[in-house]
Amino acid sequence: MQSIPGEDLAIDRKARMRIPVQEPNARPVEDRLRDFDATFVPLTEEEAREAASRCIHCPDPAPCATACPVNNDIPSAMWLIEQGDFIGAAEIYRRTSSMPEICGLVCPHEALCEGSCVRSKREEPVQTGALEAFATSYQRQHAGWRSKSARRPARRSPSSAPGLAAWAAPRC
Ligand code: SF4
Repeated sequence: MQSIPGEDLAIDRKARMRIPVQEPNARPVEDRLRDFDATFVPLTEEEAREAASRCIHCPDPAPCATACPVNNDIPSAMWLIEQGDFIGAAEIYRRTSSMPEICGLVCPHEALCEGSCVRSKREEPVQTGALEAFATSYQRQHAGWRSKSARRPARRSPSSAPGLAAWAAPRC
């Protein structure tokens, strides 16, 4: 279920349909041979907002979210990215996915969310994959987000658990 219902947004869908896609910028091969950084130049904040503003906010359930294996609330994340609330968007992804930075980079978007985006029927879809990677990386860089397992207090080792030693001791 969308946390920001598209029906409530006062947006001009026809005008949005005229916003062109921004082709991703590949880094020069000579540079890529020397490091393990991403192939494509990461989106800037302005580019991310522009790319997210191509979303026309389909009615719930949106095809992109339905096609997502973890049912990410993609339309709501698109809206928050467009508004410049990148950390809010990252939190939307984290509600349903435990590793959205990775999914944003390696998930087969062309077959899932982007392949189901209504815009892909006529032209390039909304770049939902790159935007997921952008928002979650932004959060990590600016808010120092740590994984849930990193925040969890250390668990006691089984050998220190009361009763275990007694259970393991030989019985006479
Ligand atoms: S299907 Fe495409 S246009 Fe529709 S809500 Fe999802 S990303 Fe936006």
